[in-house]
Amino acid sequence: MAIKCGAHNCVHNDNNGNCYAGVVNVCGAHATVTDETMCKSFAAQDLKADAEFAMEFNAAPKKAEVSNIKCGACHCKHNEKHKCCADHVQINHVTASCETFEK
Ligand code: SF4
Repeated sequence: MAIKCGAHNCVHNDNNGNCYAGVVNVCGAHATVTDETMCKSFAAQDLKADAEFAMEFNAAPKKAEVSNIKCGACHCKHNEKHKCCADHVQINHVTASCETFEK
């Protein structure tokens, strides 16, 4: 169950659509459409300049799966008690919203 993320400018993205965040937080408690969701784990590339962060990042280079997603978008049909149960998740490359959201 893969995460495919178009936000290649995120520090957790390997520029190939794979996410390496340990836990992925998606928010949107009141979301009824995709645009009202957002990946809160998105962090812009310039954080890589932070040596401490880079050390942490490199210490656990494990590809994130859907099971790593903690999601607040409880109106989504894939959400079960703040866990994502979708087969795969696609994150938008511009807004970092969850394109797999379905009411
Ligand atoms: S598919 Fe639904 S439950 Fe899964 S991360 Fe996206 S909004 Fe959250």
